[in-house]
Amino acid sequence: AALALSACGANQAADAPEEDNATGGDGASGLSVGVILPDTRSSARWEGFDKPYLEQAFAEAGVDADIQNAQGDIQRFSTIADQMIQRGVDVLATVNLSSESGATVQRKATAAGITTVDYDRLTLGGEADYYISFDNVRVGELQAEGLVDCLGDTEGAEIIEIQGSPTDNNASLFQEGQRQVLQPLYDSGEYELVDSQPIDQWNNQRGGTTFQQILTANGGNVDGVVAANDGLAGAVINVLRQSGLAGTVPVTGQDADPEALRSILLGEQCMTVYKPVSLEAQALVDLALALAGGDEGAAEEQVSGTVADEVGEREVNAVLLEPVLVTRDNVADVVDDGWVTADRLCDGA
Ligand code: BGC
Repeated sequence: AALALSACGANQAADAPEEDNATGGDGASGLSVGVILPDTRSSARWEGFDKPYLEQAFAEAGVDADIQNAQGDIQRFSTIADQMIQRGVDVLATVNLSSESGATVQRKATAAGITTVDYDRLTLGGEADYYISFDNVRVGELQAEGLVDCLGDTEGAEIIEIQGSPTDNNASLFQEGQRQVLQPLYDSGEYELVDSQPIDQWNNQRGGTTFQQILTANGGNVDGVVAANDGLAGAVINVLRQSGLAGTVPVTGQDADPEALRSILLGEQCMTVYKPVSLEAQALVDLALALAGGDEGAAEEQVSGTVADEVGEREVNAVLLEPVLVTRDNVADVVDDGWVTADRLCDGA
């Protein structure tokens, strides 16, 4: 409770953006951009943070932005894309639901002369010349480092991994980063990997069920859980609660969901990864402006490196932002950064 209080006493910096203070640009720049977000259920971020931040940043730039959500439905994703292509947006930015379906959409856009950008998830075998995301391997490393910190010196600790969607290239990158830290520990016997399961479309509910099955099969024993994002972490913590284990078994996460930050303050979640989505949204707006204005130079100035698309056998220009490890010690920093208000976190915590 003392820890919760220290974070809850933190300054209330700016509020997260409100959806109604930006309803798409007035189009003063003459540019139009279409954005397709993936779903509403795999994470609170898409509707709760990406959408309002994008709306605000596009509005400030005078760009007419159409931001839609595919609701986890590939058919819907492609229908929305067809409409945007039909309407002739200057730039189409997508968070794919799978590389295959995402690449199909990008091929259509390219054929119609529309520039495509990968937002957050890389489309393997796709057409986008630019990719905006966080350093996702680093995200995985932070998750594993956070888990190791929370577990301390626990010889033979039994670990269960609940991974992201096999259709999401990011999920592989997160796991790659985690394994850089955890594999040597698994190999030495310091930790024991009980099971590691991917969760299709990051379905939180399925994540909970899968975790329950693994836990039961392992005689109810677990010492630490790698959950690939906060939605999955929440589902795992629910199961742990029912077994009286919540708070004693560290669980990782990602996204700094308000609910997860509360769980961290309550001691039920070990850590999360804060990815300042306002910066990711701004990067998309800046890039879209440069690309739609035909200013390749300005676009390239933003690029921090390239990432390999092994399916398309190409290098994609990338803007990769830095993720931040959040534990109970620095939840207040996320509040200070304007991500959530202290009120929202502390109410009842
Ligand atoms: C994003 C995560 C998100 C997950 C589920 C990933 O591609 O990088 O922030 O939690 O998808 O939506």
